[in-house]
Amino acid sequence: MELTIDYECPQCKKSFHQRFADISPGKIRKCTHCGATVALTLEGLRGFEKALEAYCRP
Ligand SMILES: [Zn+2]
Repeated sequence: MELTIDYECPQCKKSFHQRFADISPGKIRKCTHCGATVALTLEGLRGFEKALEAYCRP
């Protein structure tokens, strides 16, 4: 199973699904909703804890 997270766009505040490997620090992604460039930040990882929990629990 691949680890995916819901990453919150700092601009439009919508979350979009990302593979964790794709948003590792230093990689720039584009928001699927507004097209804003988003980089990995602590703020964007608000939902990460939940995603990780779900990932670890089968
Ligand atoms: Zn956005």
